[in-house]
Amino acid sequence: MNRLLLLATGGTIAGCADDSATLNDYTAGVLGGDALLAAVPQLQDLATITVEQVANVDSADLLFEHWRALVARIRDAFAADPELVGMVITHGTNTLEETAWLLQLLIDDPRPVVLVGAMRPATALSADGPLNLLQAVQVALSPVARGYGVLVVMDGQIHGAQRVTKAATQGVGAFASPGSGPLGRVDDFGVHLPMASGSWQVPFAGLALPEQWPQVPIVYGSVEPEPLLLTACLNARVPGLVFTGTGAGQLSAAERSALQAWSGKRPLMLRANRCGSGPVQSHSDDERLGLLSAGSLNPQKARVLLLLCLLAEVDRGGLSARLLKLEPVN
Ligand code: ASP
Repeated sequence: MNRLLLLATGGTIAGCADDSATLNDYTAGVLGGDALLAAVPQLQDLATITVEQVANVDSADLLFEHWRALVARIRDAFAADPELVGMVITHGTNTLEETAWLLQLLIDDPRPVVLVGAMRPATALSADGPLNLLQAVQVALSPVARGYGVLVVMDGQIHGAQRVTKAATQGVGAFASPGSGPLGRVDDFGVHLPMASGSWQVPFAGLALPEQWPQVPIVYGSVEPEPLLLTACLNARVPGLVFTGTGAGQLSAAERSALQAWSGKRPLMLRANRCGSGPVQSHSDDERLGLLSAGSLNPQKARVLLLLCLLAEVDRGGLSARLLKLEPVN
């Protein structure tokens, strides 16, 4: 039988409430990966699945050390077992897209790595976790899913790591890939990925992850933004910063002045947008202010890219080159 590794990290898929009608007031990350597997007996016929518990947390409480452990485990498992067909990672939905994107930038292997979560706790009536898990395993085992990079399977849809985002707070179909839609779907008839897999870059394939990671704040644009926030970040000498600009990633005049007036070393900075869809394009002011446009990366994914650039000691020029390589799927 095919061999698959299931790495469990917690989330609502492993969450429990006091009664089956409760959908929101529950504790995430209660059940272990073994219990998730046991809830789907059909999985036994599909593959030999080894379960490992990397964490058991609400994904809002994930730490860089969890990411470090997860990446190390994935790299080791792929390197140690050429017969391993793929991996499934159970994860809280709130930050699932950040982990998916992190892995996409770090894991260089054609075998499928599939993240999956649930919007309803395991104790809920019509819990969505068991079916999502079954479908995630089906995708991870499918030869047609090889070479697509890191995938997210939710509600029968297959999303790519670069685009996918949690787009709704409630409902089992909460994930979307703005601008492009999902890559495919999984149903009774199998795994459907109509477009050919791309030859994407894994820009940080060999990067060793240290214990200490830099902090990269996200500053959010609005009417009359509080200039103290940006000044505080600059004064704190943050090494990286993401602006979530209004519209196509616009900064206010006050924010631009604060940046222009700053005489210290500039953080590595990306300009993303708060619209939820559509790219941020470059602007004639970017060079002077030390900014780079984040393309179609949402602010939280722009932050992940900055974190890895800082860990790899990539400067603004190197970041710009990496952004260009991401562009084909933007
Ligand atoms: N709070 C949960 C988490 O992200 C939400 C979920 O999994 O749906 O862990």
